[in-house]
Amino acid sequence: METIAERLKSAHESLNMALKKANRAPNSIQLLAVSKTKPVSDIVLAYEAGHRLFGENYVQEGVEKVQELQELNDIQWHFIGPIQSNKSKLVAENFDWVHTVDRAKIAKRLSNQHTPHKKLNVLIQVNINTEESKAGVLVDEIETLAALIDTLPNLTLRGLMTIPKASQSAQELVNTYQHMHQLFVNLQHSFETVDTLSMGMSADIEPAVLNGSTMVRVGTAIFGPRNTTT
Ligand SMILES: *Cc1c(COP(=O)(O)O)cnc(C)c1O
Repeated sequence: METIAERLKSAHESLNMALKKANRAPNSIQLLAVSKTKPVSDIVLAYEAGHRLFGENYVQEGVEKVQELQELNDIQWHFIGPIQSNKSKLVAENFDWVHTVDRAKIAKRLSNQHTPHKKLNVLIQVNINTEESKAGVLVDEIETLAALIDTLPNLTLRGLMTIPKASQSAQELVNTYQHMHQLFVNLQHSFETVDTLSMGMSADIEPAVLNGSTMVRVGTAIFGPRNTTT
């Protein structure tokens, strides 16, 4: 079985190959290691292999890990799961980035509840395929939420995040990613803090990089299949 260090190395190699294919600069993409359901010991192994960016989906589990690993203080913690408003304080107090801001109420709460040693970096989650059951703002709601976030004192608007519809053909996925990239470029024209497009997971690293992602969120390809939550 491959070790976490070996899988991290392969993930970086896939990213570099995709960047090359896309004629993009090396290091123009960040790898977020998604450690949900995995034990703290796995995060430590990735840390020892030099990795610093970790993503968690569940508030309780994520906060426990952040607190347990407090002395590894150069880890950058990203919250990438749904946020209920009664959990926003825990997210604001423990994470450095939030990828899943999708309404004004949550943005305001995060700003009020964040301990401002430095600002909380936020991405707007976009429901790019207009799926009934999916979180995220619709395309025509992005600008309004972005303008609000831009006025909030403890948040920095860094960009957009999406989880595309699962059942798409390869071509539909490319179209979806290109649409997201266009929205990202438009947003950059309006807000100078915007520099991050979070899209792509283990199964679609290459199309995400080819179509302008600046941060891929990779779980399975680094840590192996998810442990079942109890
Ligand atoms: C779990 C998860 C990932 C990682 O998915 P893999 O397919 O394991 O790489 C990425 N983004 C979000 C929002 C997730 O919930």
